[in-house]
Amino acid sequence: MEDKTKKIFSPIAILILIVAFIGIWASVFAVPDKKLKVTYLDIGQGDSELIEFPDGKMALIDGGPGKKVLEGLGKNMPFYKRKIDIIFLSHPHADHVAGLVHVLSRYEVGRVVLTRAVHNAPEYQEFLKQAKDKNIPATEGIRGTEFDFSGGSKIKILYPTGTLDSQNLNNTSEVLMLESGKTRFLFMGDLENDGSDKLLALEPDLQTDVIKVPHHGSQNALNADLYKKASPKYAVISVGKDNKYGHPHTEVLNFLEASGIKYFRTDTAGDVSLVSDGTSVELKKGNNLLSF
Ligand SMILES: [Zn+2]
Repeated sequence: MEDKTKKIFSPIAILILIVAFIGIWASVFAVPDKKLKVTYLDIGQGDSELIEFPDGKMALIDGGPGKKVLEGLGKNMPFYKRKIDIIFLSHPHADHVAGLVHVLSRYEVGRVVLTRAVHNAPEYQEFLKQAKDKNIPATEGIRGTEFDFSGGSKIKILYPTGTLDSQNLNNTSEVLMLESGKTRFLFMGDLENDGSDKLLALEPDLQTDVIKVPHHGSQNALNADLYKKASPKYAVISVGKDNKYGHPHTEVLNFLEASGIKYFRTDTAGDVSLVSDGTSVELKKGNNLLSF
């Protein structure tokens, strides 16, 4: 009599089962939950924000000061994804661009968006070289440019205009408004007070649910009119522990508290993930962060 056990567990049958199992799990992970997720990555003293769109597309704004961004991407991107569809560089300072050099070498990147700001720092030059060597399409980050994603999401560039403040690279920062349904996230880069004044003069509609606090919570970027016009529910400060600049400054924290804006700091909270269903923005479930 033939041994049925052997037949059932023949190598081919096992292979079919494994393939079916992987297929089922891949489809479970691939089903988008129709929500948009923004994660402010804890990358030390710098900036890096990861956006996962409802259709699964990924965008990254800045890459922080070094390799730590790779940990953040590993933790916050679906494990099977090796592509970032679009990268925005706010401005060429090392605490924003250095990590992107590592990202370009590890991930497939669909497009980079950057301003014409000139800076000779080696990290920025390396970023430009890698993007060029890999033939990654580049778009100039300039006011009026929009990027549409499926499901009613878009990223609009609000700043700078064609004229850059070359004296102060912080004031050349790309300012981005991410819209998903009725919800909005404002990314301010390192725009300082006078840069924000120029933005306010240009843009009548800065209303947002979430603001990435400009320039790591520096007092030189505390613009009361900006917060008045934006009237955010949440603020996120991307900042490194015990940094040499004293960021975030007490004046900024006091201002946020007095204004009733709930804020999160990446140095104390780690990665901060906020989720939009198109109607409202909430902290990602399981992300039990302390807010102040
Ligand atoms: Zn910075």
